[in-house]
Amino acid sequence: MSETFSVNCPTCQKSVMWLPENQYRPFCSKRCQLIDLGEWAAEEKAIPCETADFATDPSLSEDWSSR
Ligand SMILES: [Zn+2]
Repeated sequence: MSETFSVNCPTCQKSVMWLPENQYRPFCSKRCQLIDLGEWAAEEKAIPCETADFATDPSLSEDWSSR
């Protein structure tokens, strides 16, 4: 099986050939890979941040449990 196929870069949707020498696949370039990783990091930070904000307000959780 020497068939080559292409995928779409998750960042910019450009067609990327799936080749062993393309070390950034499924991304078209290192830049797109870094952008995607950066978005991941931002999402991971956003979730615990919201939770922490909720947890640090005791009046909110008291109010919720008394209802
Ligand atoms: Zn790209």
